[in-house]
This record gives sequence, structure tokens and C-alpha cells, in this order.
Amino acid sequence: MDYDRVRESDPDVADALEAERDRQRETLEMIASENHVSEAVMEAQGSVLTNKYAEGYPGARYYGGCEHVDTVEELAIERAKELWGADHVNVQPHSGTQANMAVYFAMLDPGDRILSLDLNHGGHLSHGHHANFTGQLYEVEQYEVDPETGYLDYEALREHAEEFDPDIVVSGYSAYPREVEWERIQDAADAADAYHLADIAHITGLVAAGVHPSPVGVADFVTGSTHKTIRAGRGGIVMCDEAYADDVDSAVIPGMQGGPLMHNVAGKAVGFREALDPEFEDYAEQTVANAEALGERLQEHGFGLVSEGTDTHLVLVDLRESHEDVTGKDAEEALEDVGIVLNANTVPGETRSPFVTSGIRAGTPALTTRGFDEDDCRYVADLIAEVVDNVDDDDVMGEVAEQVQELCEANPLYE
Ligand SMILES: *Cc1c(COP(=O)(O)O)cnc(C)c1O
Repeated sequence: MDYDRVRESDPDVADALEAERDRQRETLEMIASENHVSEAVMEAQGSVLTNKYAEGYPGARYYGGCEHVDTVEELAIERAKELWGADHVNVQPHSGTQANMAVYFAMLDPGDRILSLDLNHGGHLSHGHHANFTGQLYEVEQYEVDPETGYLDYEALREHAEEFDPDIVVSGYSAYPREVEWERIQDAADAADAYHLADIAHITGLVAAGVHPSPVGVADFVTGSTHKTIRAGRGGIVMCDEAYADDVDSAVIPGMQGGPLMHNVAGKAVGFREALDPEFEDYAEQTVANAEALGERLQEHGFGLVSEGTDTHLVLVDLRESHEDVTGKDAEEALEDVGIVLNANTVPGETRSPFVTSGIRAGTPALTTRGFDEDDCRYVADLIAEVVDNVDDDDVMGEVAEQVQELCEANPLYE
């Protein structure tokens, strides 16, 4: 995978692209929201569709020459319907955040009320954080996970909904390792006569493969990113009942976006097609089995996991339980030095700033794409423990870095 034509035009960017390709090949990508898409998805994203304006929707565009992009968008929509079983799908949001924005813009007025999970407890900026437009346009209250168990507290959520009377309840999370009981969140939304937005950004692939329960048919709106566990082109998606279709579509355009990124829509179509292959189910199952194996071995090394385990593609380590003096940032940096890339993450009951944190979040979607199995992930857990136990020991770090390289070579990427 070379960038010869970029090199002819722009050697500086070509250098950076090849360096990034090599970085991906030579590191263990454990950021839970990341994945490695197929070369077919990348080719679609780098296609002639980048040239095309296609404001509007298939069959009803503001521009001519749209017959082929119509085909691509219709394919993306059909496949998404097949993957997730939704009545109506909009594949144009530029990202998961824009997908959420479309739902808020379609259904809420400024000043309306959002009830969502606190960012420190696993929520997302676009769910009402004060620095995000949602925190500024809407009135937001947030629920939390049970500080003892790390699980969502559905009873407390329902009571909170009854008291606060939100217009929308948001579920779906960035750092929640456990299965979400969508019906119980729907109960809370019903108690306040509120809409329910289930943002499955992280778990799109797990839901499509049936390894996590689906909120489609439960929540009013289901949104997601298309480049996380579903491993398609970069972007977002909104799914809803036919009853809300027009509202959502007109919120996306003309409401908040201009021309769709048709090259990315093509990447979504190709990735969704790949996810319809039976092997994708194996992939999703293996991703979860790998996260379980990783988590169990970390626990054997003495690490504390939020909720004491996982049902999904990620584990959330609370370092305070095993390494009082090592912050999430310290661990992130030491691990990056040996080629294990993950992120510092706040944990429930966080005592440090969001830039420092007391936790690390580790996901298995990208490793599983590379071919890692449970044994490999247990070995990765051994390496993580070795690093976190010895953050200041250069000899240990050097040895682990070599072991990481061996693992990368045994599971090659983009050959
Ligand atoms: C990643 C994520 C998003 C947003 O995704 P982008 O595609 O980065 O905009 C939204 N919600 C949740 C819960 C996420 O984890």
C-alpha cells in the first residue's frame, strides 16, 4: 500500500501517509472506537465520488448527474436496513456526532430538555456536555452509573426522568463495558413521555451481528458512527421509524448539512456489504471473546475493571485499585512508548482531571480485525501489566516493545 501519486504531487503529505500506515502496522491499536477498514472500503472512500455534489436524496437531488451516486446511496441504505432492521435510514451524516445533531435538530427546540449519561461515566460530548452545542442549546441533566457496581442504575434513571421531565432520554455510550437493557431505558423515557435516542456508535457492529441486543424497534431513534465496530467508511447514520423519516431527513439537509460526502457514503455501502457476510458474525463474536480474555487476564494481574468485566468490545480499567500512583495519562504514555495504543479514560467516581484521569480504556475491535484471538489478547494483557508495573524501567519497556513488534509481524496489516 503505497502513495506514489500523492508523492509525485506532495511528498510531505506522502511521507505522513506512509508513516501513518507504518504506525498502524507496527502498533497494537486498542482505542476502542477505532478499527482497520478493508482496502475495498478505502478504495471506495478515495474514489471519484469525492467530486460529486448530491444535495438531496436518491431520486430527488438539487443537482444533475446523480444517477450513480443514487445507486450508491440506495445500496448503503438497503444494506443498513438489512443489517439493523430499521424502517428508515439516513446515511448522510458526516459523523456520529452529526447523526445525533440531526435527531436533536429534528425533534427538539432550543431550551428543551435532554437527560443523558455523564461523560465521566461513559457518555459522549454530543449528549449534552457543557462545552458541546448540546450543552449550550438545551437544558441538560445527567444520570450516572452505580458507583459501587459500575452498572447503569435503571431504577435511578427512571426516577430521574420522572423528576426532570426531559424531552429526550439519550442512551448508548463511549465507555460502558456492559450490555445495555434498552427496554429499561425506554421505560424511563416513557415515564416522562420523552423520545428515546439510542446512540450505538461504538457497538454498531456488535448489534448488527446480534452479539449485543438491538435498540432498533425499542428506541425512537438509533444513531451511530459507521467506522467503529461495524468497520465501514467513516461517518454517521440515523435510523428511525417511518413516522420520523421526513423530520430526520430534512434535519440533515437542508437543516444542518450541505452536500453529502458521497465517497464516504460509498465506503459505508462497501463496509455494510462486508458486514452482511457470515464471517462478520464470527468477527463480532471474536471481538467480544477477546475483550473478555483481555479483561480476565488483567484481573489476574491485579487490575480492577469497572463493572468487574465486560460484555462488549472494551474494558475499562480503574488504575486506582492496583496502581495508586499511576494515572491514566502515565499508563497511556508508557504503553504508547512500547507500541500499545489506547487512551486514558475517566472512571466512575473520578478524582483526577479529564486530561489526567485514573483509568484506561482498551478495546479489541482493531486487534480482532488483524486476526488476534483470546490467547493473543491474554498475552497483550501480560504486556500491559508489565508496562504499567514498570513505567520507569527502560529495560522492561525495551523488551516489551520487541514483543509488541513480534505480535504485529505475526498478524500483518495491509500487506
Ligand atoms: C464515537 C461516538 C460518537 C461520535 O462519533 P463521531 O463519529 O466521532 O462523531 C457519538 N456517540 C458515542 C457514544 C460515541 O462513542
